[in-house]
Amino acid sequence: MSTAAIIVAAGRGTRLGGPVPKQYQRLGAEPGAEAVLTRTLRAALAAPELDAVLVAIHPDAAELYADAVAALDDPRLLPPVPGGATRSDTVRLALEALESMAPEVVLIHDAARPFASPALYAALADHARSGEGAIAAEPVADALWREVDGMADTPAPRAGLWRAQTPQAFPFGALLAAHRADGPPALDDAEVFRRAGGRVRLIQGEPENFKITTAADLARAGRVVEAGMSDIRVGHGFDVHRFCPGDRVWLCGVAIPHDRGLEGHSDADVGLHALADAIYGAIGDGDIGQHFPPSDPRWRGAASHVFLRHAGERVAARGGRIANVDVTLLCERPRIGPHAAAMKARIAEVLGLAPDRVSIKATTMERMGFVGREEGMGALATATVVLESK
Ligand code: MG
Repeated sequence: MSTAAIIVAAGRGTRLGGPVPKQYQRLGAEPGAEAVLTRTLRAALAAPELDAVLVAIHPDAAELYADAVAALDDPRLLPPVPGGATRSDTVRLALEALESMAPEVVLIHDAARPFASPALYAALADHARSGEGAIAAEPVADALWREVDGMADTPAPRAGLWRAQTPQAFPFGALLAAHRADGPPALDDAEVFRRAGGRVRLIQGEPENFKITTAADLARAGRVVEAGMSDIRVGHGFDVHRFCPGDRVWLCGVAIPHDRGLEGHSDADVGLHALADAIYGAIGDGDIGQHFPPSDPRWRGAASHVFLRHAGERVAARGGRIANVDVTLLCERPRIGPHAAAMKARIAEVLGLAPDRVSIKATTMERMGFVGREEGMGALATATVVLESK
């Protein structure tokens, strides 16, 4: 079977006035907004035609990279390789790293283009199987002027001019050989490939596939993401645990002194269990028992924030974010009110949300039923998740 790999060049990258290089900056100011690189990789992983995704990073950026891919759970994403001093060195090093895999086709893409569609990746990969290179490009539509001293001086003909984007796709062996041959600095991989005698087809690119070069581009990219976040999901969760002998209960991530404990395989945090299920429910992703089977000894006595964090990461992996969560605890005792602020802060911390997006409430059951008889506790939760509409 023929295979295709993609190299995402994330080596250098200016800071655009931000604290980190642009490919690690966030797309928009909303809590949970993903990094540019995360978005680029998610788009590539959405193309089933791509069998491997390899990112070339700056040697100092291992931590930034780990953060950016934390939510991406896909075996096609290979461990990153350190890039070189120039873009061309970076691509060559990444190609060398793929040599043992020897894909039929390789695509080269800039980390700072997060909006290439899966269809574009597929079209380019498909063409490169013919033995030619293929690059995404758009015909120049604007009038072109040569400037002298700030003045429009000479009109330049635009007929036949195309603006190259990435991805660019090539037969793997031929591109690797072309990069190994020494040459003067090249504009892009199309130039390297052509110098070695290859032919490169221009494939209609996509206007949305713009490159983030300036702070204004980054702001525009954030607006594009924002405008697409309109698929609103609500999930609910419910859980109960029985009281047992003990001296504290874990509720919403906070240990509360009590004359009993709660019985369960993990720490029996009924609030966090209901909440994790609400989040899984919002994205149709099963439930806590499916992700963390009680039969698995690893979760014996586990702190339940692990489950909650996992649910939050599943939302992030879909490019979504949590808009708000709301938990109601059902018990006669202990009193929840004095601990509600700590619970709210803990949940906000685990999910990376502002505390005003977290609500903790409690009610007694007026001495009725299992809660009223203090046999156990219950919890209800809802979560609102916003996903990008497709
Ligand atoms: Mg439970």
